[in-house]
Amino acid sequence: MKQDGFDYEFDPKKCDECGGKCCTGESGYIWIDESEIKILGEYLGYKPELIKEIFLEKFDNRYSIKEKPYQKGWACIFFDEKNKNCSIYEYRPKQCRSFPFWEHFKTNYKELEMECIGVKQS
Ligand code: SF4
Repeated sequence: MKQDGFDYEFDPKKCDECGGKCCTGESGYIWIDESEIKILGEYLGYKPELIKEIFLEKFDNRYSIKEKPYQKGWACIFFDEKNKNCSIYEYRPKQCRSFPFWEHFKTNYKELEMECIGVKQS
């Protein structure tokens, strides 16, 4: 898989072997917007306000998905520790869908390489 403007490609089949490194490790923000909160709420059977209360943290006017302690660091609260994957995969926010094609990694490829076994510079 390639994307315009990026000098690397990504093989999503590698996700099966990886163990979810992009959802675990160091703490970070996992931004989710109002429309994504609504869709996630419909899937989980909760009103958006309850989704915010249970699963999200507010930073100024934005929401980020909460994290939980995992191994020696952190994991997204929706990371399935048994299956090592995302428990809301079809409903995950844009930030997760667009990984590993983030602007940040255009100039930080080494960092991405440590996090994702599915990337290869082309
Ligand atoms: S929402 Fe899913 S894909 Fe995104 S960080 Fe959490 S577990 Fe990973």
